[in-house]
Amino acid sequence: MAVLERAAREERGGNTRYTESFWRMRDHDTVSEDFDERLAGNAGGHFDPEFVKDAGRPYEDWPRPLRAFGFTDPELIRVWGDDAGPALRWLEGFGVRWDFLPTYFPYQSTTRIAPVGGGLALVEALAAEAERRGASIFYETAARGLVRDDEGEIVGVEAVKRGRPCRFMGRVVLASGGFEGNPEMLARYLGPKAQWTRPVAKGGYYNRGEGVAMGLAAGAAPAGEYGAFHAQPVDPRSGAIEPVVLHYGYGVLVNREGERFTDEAAGPVDAGYERVARAVLEQPQGLAWAVFDAALDDAPHWRGAGGRGPGPLGRRRVGRRWGGPPSSTRRRSRPRSAPTTPPARRTYRPSARTGRTASPRGAWRRRRATGRGRC
Ligand SMILES: Cc1cc2nc3c(=O)[nH]c(=O)nc-3n(C[C@H](O)[C@H](O)[C@H](O)COP(=O)(O)OP(=O)(O)OC[C@H]3O[C@@H](n4cnc5c(N)ncnc54)[C@H](O)[C@@H]3O)c2cc1C
Repeated sequence: MAVLERAAREERGGNTRYTESFWRMRDHDTVSEDFDERLAGNAGGHFDPEFVKDAGRPYEDWPRPLRAFGFTDPELIRVWGDDAGPALRWLEGFGVRWDFLPTYFPYQSTTRIAPVGGGLALVEALAAEAERRGASIFYETAARGLVRDDEGEIVGVEAVKRGRPCRFMGRVVLASGGFEGNPEMLARYLGPKAQWTRPVAKGGYYNRGEGVAMGLAAGAAPAGEYGAFHAQPVDPRSGAIEPVVLHYGYGVLVNREGERFTDEAAGPVDAGYERVARAVLEQPQGLAWAVFDAALDDAPHWRGAGGRGPGPLGRRRVGRRWGGPPSSTRRRSRPRSAPTTPPARRTYRPSARTGRTASPRGAWRRRRATGRGRC
């Protein structure tokens, strides 16, 4: 087996390398209570009720238009939910340990489990197991197109290794992430505003969408949301890994015109940050400022949710230089607890409707390849 990896060995693993890899699980074997509902609820679109009805029938009975319809297949959600526990246990077989680790959300709506060591632990465990079983990993080698025989069967991939063309013959599995590292595809699918987005972590820059393009060119039916994406609000001034800004619910968000544009705390932040991130992208230059008053210091855990960037908040609030751990460890670190200095002088009072801080000044009231490659 040959595994092609565009990145160098030390950066292998794409986004997975950089994620904490929280899984919505209630225990090691069962997904969280809201798993199906949330996935289905997040699927966009106004579907023909007849399609919805037909989707409940066995696959072989699905009408042809439904088979190629780009929606969130309920069967896929079911399989995902049913297989999450076995997948977790399978990963345990390679030495991965799981725990209910602290998250960077100041408050959350569901239960989450994560591999100890995050996504990097998954990458290291699986790469070691693949090599132990005889796989060869070709680094700095990018797949570019599928090779077909005279019958049209897919029999390999064309690739480029450090500028030299190569070919790997055998069965092919495409597993190359999305297209968040490809500005042309981002603009094609998301529109001009894609100019104001960027991958959350460096691993995303290696994902240029060739896998998606190869699949579509081979006749795969597009499914899912090509015009949307998984989004997080991040501090654009920061080069840190995942410099999330998730404490905005304790203050207000304003755009370049100083106007508010969304309800910052319509629900728990872990259930709503995508909506907010997309709302930010709709603002001029895709920017917003999170504005707080001193009562933020009274909010629990806000620093783990928003203090990752180089911005002025951390410095000013605790009266010392922002001194979080280095970025390589910061993402593995436990979120800080609420600051102890200065001592809480005010009572943190979330608003009943929004969960926002009540301001004392009332100012802010919101494949298989065979290894027969030549390279
Ligand atoms: C900072 C961060 C935090 C996240 N947190 C969570 C979380 O807590 N829970 C959760 O469920 N999800 C989370 N996600 C999302 C999750 O990490 C991704 O959905 C997941 O890692 C995607 O896995 P993948 O294997 O599809 O792609 P990736 O992990 O991105 O891997 C793609 C691989 O393909 C390689 N590649 C790309 N193109 C080519 C090519 N043409 N030829 C050869 N190789 C190629 C890349 O180099 C990379 O190694 C997070 C993402 C980020 C960035």
